[in-house]
Amino acid sequence: MREWFWLECEGCKRRNYRAPRRTGMGAVKLEMSKFCSRCRRHTAHHEKKK
Ligand SMILES: [Zn+2]
Repeated sequence: MREWFWLECEGCKRRNYRAPRRTGMGAVKLEMSKFCSRCRRHTAHHEKKK
């Protein structure tokens, strides 16, 4: 079963991406560098649950 979470932009707090979470690997906080259309640059995106 897949759990989904949001990747929230560090700069503007906008939820830009949705990604599946791997289960059974423990609770690992994800931080990814993604492009934010509002900030118009790559920012750190943090895992955010619904
Ligand atoms: Zn942003």
